[in-house]
Amino acid sequence: MSDQTVYDELGVPRVVNAAGTKTRIGGSRIRPEAVEAMGRAATEFVRLSDLQAKASEVIADATGAEAGYVTCGADAGLLLAAAAALAGDDPGRMDQLPDTDGIPDEIIMPRTHRTGYDHAFRTAGATIVDVGTNDRVLGTGSTAVEPWEIEAAISERTAAIGYVQKPYTEPALSTVTEIASAHDVPVIVDAAAELPPTENLSRFIEEGADLVVFSGGKAIRGPQTTGIVAGRSDLIESIALQQLDMHAAEEVWQPPTSLVDGERLDGVPRQGIGRPLKVGKEELVGLLVALESFLEADHDAARGRWRREAERVTAALESVEGIDLTLDDDDVSVAPEVVVHVDTTAAACSATQLVRTLRTESPRVFVGADRLDEDVVTINPMCLTEAELDHVIARIRSSLTATQ
Ligand SMILES: *Cc1c(COP(=O)(O)O)cnc(C)c1O
Repeated sequence: MSDQTVYDELGVPRVVNAAGTKTRIGGSRIRPEAVEAMGRAATEFVRLSDLQAKASEVIADATGAEAGYVTCGADAGLLLAAAAALAGDDPGRMDQLPDTDGIPDEIIMPRTHRTGYDHAFRTAGATIVDVGTNDRVLGTGSTAVEPWEIEAAISERTAAIGYVQKPYTEPALSTVTEIASAHDVPVIVDAAAELPPTENLSRFIEEGADLVVFSGGKAIRGPQTTGIVAGRSDLIESIALQQLDMHAAEEVWQPPTSLVDGERLDGVPRQGIGRPLKVGKEELVGLLVALESFLEADHDAARGRWRREAERVTAALESVEGIDLTLDDDDVSVAPEVVVHVDTTAAACSATQLVRTLRTESPRVFVGADRLDEDVVTINPMCLTEAELDHVIARIRSSLTATQ
C-alpha cells in the first residue's frame, strides 16, 4: 500500500475500502485520465453553460436521450428533476420553489421505492404520495404495489412519478411509463447505482422514462461529486435554468441555444433552487472524460478480475474457524462479493465487533456492514488495490483468530 497519502499528511485516518462505492468513505477510485483532465480544466476559464451544452450532447449520445446535464451527484439530479417537473418552463414557478402554492406538487412513488434519497424531491418542494403496501417485507401478503394503484393516485395535483430502478423493483418501469404517458405525467428514474452494464445508460430512456439519474462517482469512476441527468430536452432546459448562475444582465444574456432557448423567455430567471448545487468546471470535465472511459471499458474483464480477487479472499479465509464463506456473484450487484457469515458461538468475535474493530484501526478498514442483523459482513473487491486486498485478508484473519 502507498505509504504517505494526502490524508496521512493531514493527520486524517485513511481508509482501505472493502465495502464498494460508498459515498461516506469517498465513493470510488477516480480514473487517472479524469484527474489529469481536471487539472487542465482548473487552469483555464470556460462558460459553464457552454460546458453543460457540450455535456448534454455527450450524455445524449451515451444514453439515447434528447439531452443531458451534469449535476453534483445523483441525489442532486433527483432534486433538479423534481424542480423541472414542478416548474416546467415557467420562470415565475422557478422563482417560487420550494413554495408550491398553486402548483401541482405531488410526486407519486410506490411505497417499496421510498429511500432516504427521496428527501431530494421534497427539498425541491414536492410532496411524496406513496402508494401500495409493504406486505411482502412483513410477510403479510404477496404483493407490494399494483399498477392500478399508481394510476388511481394520479390527479390534477400530480407533478411526476418517482421510480427507483433495481433489477428487482416492480411494477416494471415500462408498465409505469405507459400509465404515466397516458396521463401526461413525467417519470423520474433513480438509477444511481445501476451501472454497469453499459446498456443501462440507454435502457430506462428506451423504456419510456422522462428523466433518469446516474451517479458519476460510482462505477463510472468520475469525480465523487458528480451525477448525470438524461432525458427530455424541455425538462433538461428547466434544470439548466434553475441550476446555472443567473446573475446576468438581460441585454447580454446569451446562453447556448442548444441548452436554453433564451429568446423564448420574457427575461432572465433568478438564481434558482438548484444554484446551491454548483458543479465546477473541473468536475464537469472530469465526469465527461470518465464517462468516455466507462463507455470504452471492458466490463466483463473487470468483473473477471474482481471474481478472481473474491476467490482469493475465500481461499485465504477458508481455514478460519467460526465463519462460513460464500461468493455472491449474481447479476444484481456490480462486483462479486464475499459473504462472510460469522457464527457468534464459534468465532472470536461477532460480525458487529469485527466491523467496529476494523474501522477503528489504522488505516481504517471498511467492510460491507449492511447485513449485521444476519451476522454477515461482506468484502467487495471493487475499490481495492492488490496490496490493500492482502491487508484486508490479513486483518480479518487476525481479528477473527485473536483470543478474546
Ligand atoms: C448512491 C445512490 C444515490 C445518490 O447518489 P450520489 O451520486 O451520491 O448523489 C441515490 N440513489 C440511489 C439508489 C443510490 O444508490
